[in-house]
Amino acid sequence: MVLFAILIALLFYLFKVILNDDPAGGGSSGPLFGWGGGSSADEGQGGSSGGAPSEGIELQDPGYPSYYDPALEARYEAFAAARGDLTEDEVYWMVGCDLDKDPYTDTQPVPDPESYLMLVNKHYYLPEDFYPSDMVTVGATQMREEAAGNLNDMIDAAAVEGLKLWAQSGFRSYGLQVDLYNKYAASDGSEAADTYSARAGYSEHQTGLTVDLNTITDAFGDTAEGQWVKEHAHEYGFIIRYTEENTDVTLYKYEPWHIRYIGIEAATRMHDEGIASFEEYWVKYVK
Ligand SMILES: [Zn+2]
Repeated sequence: MVLFAILIALLFYLFKVILNDDPAGGGSSGPLFGWGGGSSADEGQGGSSGGAPSEGIELQDPGYPSYYDPALEARYEAFAAARGDLTEDEVYWMVGCDLDKDPYTDTQPVPDPESYLMLVNKHYYLPEDFYPSDMVTVGATQMREEAAGNLNDMIDAAAVEGLKLWAQSGFRSYGLQVDLYNKYAASDGSEAADTYSARAGYSEHQTGLTVDLNTITDAFGDTAEGQWVKEHAHEYGFIIRYTEENTDVTLYKYEPWHIRYIGIEAATRMHDEGIASFEEYWVKYVK
């Protein structure tokens, strides 16, 4: 009888453990994105420190976000010291995508080249032989099928409002980018060329998810078409990849004509949350 009671108690205990285990496993990612935007990080810093507010980041702060990586602590510290203008949150996500390193230095291959959410920039590159598998013709150029379909929807929607959008330059191969960059570097020098042209392998145009619209001039941003794109691109899964706001992150000049497909859900989230760069989105929601 006693043995039986012990057995029942044991079973009950095991059952409880199993039941508890599940929510604990599911919840282990913690309070997601508890930091919210950059401004709340500012408030936290000002309010909590009391004694010496400017002494840098409290890395052991229990409120750290899900994209905080303890393995990067030394780099967080160094980057925060070098860039006193950044909030803690900015330090975390910027180091999270290697923005503490110099461009084209110690770079890494894109981990998932076929993903609509892949990040290509001056720190992440595509292999020389990367060629998207599902390309279709759109306008006078080529893009991946889903991106092209959404682009056509966007062009149609703009047309309803009397605006004319067209696809100027979509996919560009590694070899074509070699020629382009070399041409620009020869005429303007590589330092200047780097502000508006990607080196081969580092170009978003090789992804098949990017397209240059209409005319490649700053003035495009001020046209009715450019303004409409700014307002509506996210509804079709596109973002303006290089804006005036994110130049410090992307290290490219403002390019109102250059849009990148990331899918409607991601583009809408970036729009609604006011996330200024795909780099920030990538660290916080993709990586
Ligand atoms: Zn472009």
